[in-house]
Amino acid sequence: MSQHVSLIVRSSTIHAAGCYTTTPVRKGERIAEYTGQRLNKEQADDLYQDYPVTYLFGLGDGSTVIDGFCSAMFINHSCDGNAETTEDDGHIWIIALRDIAAEEEITYDYCLYDGSEDPCTCYCGAHNCRGSMYSPQEIRRRKAEARKAAQSKKRGKRKAATTGSKTAR
Ligand SMILES: [Zn+2]
Repeated sequence: MSQHVSLIVRSSTIHAAGCYTTTPVRKGERIAEYTGQRLNKEQADDLYQDYPVTYLFGLGDGSTVIDGFCSAMFINHSCDGNAETTEDDGHIWIIALRDIAAEEEITYDYCLYDGSEDPCTCYCGAHNCRGSMYSPQEIRRRKAEARKAAQSKKRGKRKAATTGSKTAR
């Protein structure tokens, strides 16, 4: 796969480090592949049980995750990102949603799922910011779960698997 976008990682106004393009990117162009070691869900859970931050990206039905080890792992979340992710034949690509100028920070919507207690508050500042890095479905699921927990002390935790989304831990 050809890929000629040049990325650098440096400090970001959104969160800690961010990923910037040093070259203009055209809409639809592949910016980077999300690469790293592939783990199954159980391995990832074992490894990262106690870590507040991980760089896991769920593949397919979520039974496999990519443990990010690449520039793309530094791309920050935005509710109004200039890029999106797609899964193509078992590979996760970051694709430009619009033309992106050189020096712009690359962002995409994490659509987090499988969260823990962490609210994953979003500070992206977009006009349509939903205040959380969780996916809209996950936000609904968490709200429903909170209601259920309030009604009953039983805490049966059902995990939603989402295609092409980062996992929250
Ligand atoms: Zn936001």
